[in-house]
Amino acid sequence: MNDPGALIRRLVRPAVLSMQAYHVPPATGMIKLDAMENPYGWPEELLQDWLEQVGSAPLNRYPDPSATLLKARMRRTLQVPDGAELLLGNGSDELIQLLGMALGGDDRCVLTPGPGFAMYRIIAGFTGMDYVEVPLRPGDFGLDRDATLAAIRRHQPAIVYLAYPNNPTGNAFDRDDVEAVIEAAPGVVVLDEAYYAFCGQSFSDELARYPQLLVMRTVSKMGLAGLRLGYLMGHPAWLEQLEKCRLPYNIGVLTQLSASFSLDHVAVFEEQTARICADRQWLFEALAGIEELQVWPSQANFITFRVPTGSAGAIHQSLREERVLIKKLDGSHPMLDDCLRVTVGTPEENAAFLEALERALGTR
Ligand SMILES: *Cc1c(COP(=O)(O)O)cnc(C)c1O
Repeated sequence: MNDPGALIRRLVRPAVLSMQAYHVPPATGMIKLDAMENPYGWPEELLQDWLEQVGSAPLNRYPDPSATLLKARMRRTLQVPDGAELLLGNGSDELIQLLGMALGGDDRCVLTPGPGFAMYRIIAGFTGMDYVEVPLRPGDFGLDRDATLAAIRRHQPAIVYLAYPNNPTGNAFDRDDVEAVIEAAPGVVVLDEAYYAFCGQSFSDELARYPQLLVMRTVSKMGLAGLRLGYLMGHPAWLEQLEKCRLPYNIGVLTQLSASFSLDHVAVFEEQTARICADRQWLFEALAGIEELQVWPSQANFITFRVPTGSAGAIHQSLREERVLIKKLDGSHPMLDDCLRVTVGTPEENAAFLEALERALGTR
């Protein structure tokens, strides 16, 4: 094949040329504790009921473009405040992209605390937005209120993203600090509540008070990562504009059907979530009991910890060799040197991880 290199360099937008594609490591056969997935499947009879419904799904037809049934189910079970409208995305990643397409362009800026969620930066890049990251407080990863407010004044961001709780640090920011940011922002503030199920705290009640506020969630971390369904709640006038950038059939027939079905059985997910929160506590205490580690408390379904200086790569690799896959944060951000992140799995998976970690540290 002839090399299209010259043509590519001429045609592909510079912002895209300079990007790296998002890398997902292979995980076949691994104890997969790298991506904040819920480790539990469904009870057998639920599975049978679901299969029956899927079996008669009209795959020859386009999906309902406005997902009417699903949205009504979501309103009933997911605490969508009265007066707020819902926008659905193919994962909340797609909602971040929609926000970038609607509000992005030259001289527009995204501001977010860091270390934070990588997609804010990546999507700012390809929607032509500047990206400003305000460092969190070293030590406890809390919002640095003064620095954040100063950066907002200086950069006048079109969008501020606050992940609440934050990924990859696991903490939920101080509510007063978040409110100060909302009040100071000249543009939209998106509260990304991807880990709402494990934290219970939300800013959705503040939607009525702040017209510049949008609250985003996803069903991924609560146990439906394979469906790809995120939702944004906010003032109908905002969502009317964002809807224009949404492709008409972005939520497929199988996702609409399976999400509706799941929400009819939301108790199953609530039980799994409660289990994961209890096991998070167990795992936190186990990690905190290892002298070589620094561990941060988490209100999400993962725990971030620091290993002895210079050992993160070797420990990550040694876990891999024992078929335990966690996330290496070391190298991704200056404040995350020597840090690793583990998703809370089943009790068996957590124990296997812990044993492999202690072997890697030489404490076992
Ligand atoms: C996982 C995650 C998301 C993305 O969720 P999807 O709905 O799976 O796209 C968004 N925000 C944060 C902070 C996350 O950790």
